[in-house]
Amino acid sequence: MDRIAIVGAGIGGLTAALALARRDIESVVFEQQAALPDEGAGIQISPNAAAELRELGLGAAFDTAARPAHREIRRWHDNAVITRTDLGRYDVPYYTMRRGALIGALRRAVIQFGRRCVSVTEESLGFADGSVEHPGTVVGADGLHSVVRGLVAQDRPRYSGFVAARAVLPIAAPPRVTVWLGPQRHCVAYPVDHGRHLNLVVVGPAADPPARPTRVTGGALLAGFDGWHPAVRELIGLAGQAELRALHDRPPIPRWHRGRVVLIGDAAHPMLPFISQGAAQAVEDATTLARCARRPDALAHFEALRRHRVDEVAALSRAGARAFHLEDGDEQRARDRAMAAAPPDSHDWLYGYRVASLFRRCDTSSTRDASPSFRKI
Ligand SMILES: Cc1cc2nc3c(=O)[nH]c(=O)nc-3n(C[C@H](O)[C@H](O)[C@H](O)COP(=O)(O)OP(=O)(O)OC[C@H]3O[C@@H](n4cnc5c(N)ncnc54)[C@H](O)[C@@H]3O)c2cc1C
Repeated sequence: MDRIAIVGAGIGGLTAALALARRDIESVVFEQQAALPDEGAGIQISPNAAAELRELGLGAAFDTAARPAHREIRRWHDNAVITRTDLGRYDVPYYTMRRGALIGALRRAVIQFGRRCVSVTEESLGFADGSVEHPGTVVGADGLHSVVRGLVAQDRPRYSGFVAARAVLPIAAPPRVTVWLGPQRHCVAYPVDHGRHLNLVVVGPAADPPARPTRVTGGALLAGFDGWHPAVRELIGLAGQAELRALHDRPPIPRWHRGRVVLIGDAAHPMLPFISQGAAQAVEDATTLARCARRPDALAHFEALRRHRVDEVAALSRAGARAFHLEDGDEQRARDRAMAAAPPDSHDWLYGYRVASLFRRCDTSSTRDASPSFRKI
C-alpha cells in the first residue's frame, strides 16, 4: 500500500499521521513499543498547539482537560506572586490534561508496534527484528534519542544537569498554572481531570541522575526544598511516588532534513521543559509538514517555515534554564521586576501563533494542483 513512513508514535508522529490523512496522504507509523503507553502524567497544551489539534477534529480530546484561566509565577520563599499571565485571552483555550488522553485521541493512525528502527539511510529503514523498509519519504518523529537524526547530524543527547520529578496528586487543584521559582529549582502545579487532581512537576539539579525513569518518594524530593514555602513543601510531600527522570538536551543542528528524510519534534529540536513547549512545537511541526506535503520542495519548505519560529521558542526555553533558578540577589530581583512589568500581550507571539495563518499569508496558488511530493512506500 502506498504510505509514508513515520518513525515514532509520540505526539509529533501521531499528529503528523493525522494531519497527512486529512490531506488524503497515507502513512504508516513504526513504533518501537509494544503498545502506546497510558501515560497518567499531565501536560500543558497551549493555544498554539490546541488550535491545530482542534482543527484536526480532536476537540473531544479536551473533554476531560482543565482550562486554567491564568498562570502565576511565585517566589519560593514567601509564595508572593511575581507576575500573573492571562491564559484566557486567546481564541482557543490553554488546556492542562493527562498525556494519555491526548495520545488516545491521536491514535487514529496505522501503527506497526514493536518496530524499533535501528538504522537509516536515504533509501531504507532497518529494524531490530532484521526487517528493512524502503520508504520514499521518512518522517523521523522518534524523540530525543532519535535514530533517524543520525542521518542528518552526528551529535548525541547530553545530560542537562537537571532532573524532573512528576506526580499526579489526589487533591483538587485551583484553575491556574502555578510556577514557583527558587534557587537552583522550580516547581510547577496545574489541574488535570477537570481540576479533580493536581499535576506536580519539580525540576532541580542532580550530579548523579538515574539512567532511566525511576520512582522516588515525595519525602526524598523534599530534601532539596529546605526553606521553601510550606505551600510548596506540602505539595511535594503529598507526592507519594513521583517519576524521576534525567533531562537531556541536544544542540541545534543546521538542517532537519536530508534527501527524503525529515525530522520533527524532539528528534529535530528537543527543548528542556522550562516553558512547556516541546509537545506544542512537535504539533506545529507536524501540521506544517502536512500542509507542505503537496509542494515539490516539501521538506525544504517545511524547514524554512519552521526554523525561525523554533529558534525563538528554543531560545526562550534555554533562557528559562538559567533565569528560573537564580539565587536570591540583584539578578533575581531584576528578573522579577522584568516579569512583573511584562505587558498583557507579551506571550501573544507564542500562544497566539497559528500555523494556518502562516499558510494564508503564503502564495499557495502554484502548489494547489501538485501531487504529493512525498514519495511513497
Ligand atoms: C517533565 C517534562 C514535562 C513536559 N511538559 C510539557 C508540557 O507541559 N507541554 C509541552 O508542550 N511539552 C512538554 N514536555 C515536552 C514533551 O513531552 C516533548 O517535547 C514531546 O513529548 C515530544 O514529542 P515527540 O513526538 O517529538 O517525541 P516523543 O514523545 O519522545 O515520542 C517519540 C516516539 O518515538 C518512539 N521511538 C523512539 N525511538 C524509536 C525507534 N528507534 N524506532 C521506533 N520508534 C521509536 C518512542 O517510543 C515514542 O513513542 C515536557 C517534557 C518533560 C520531560
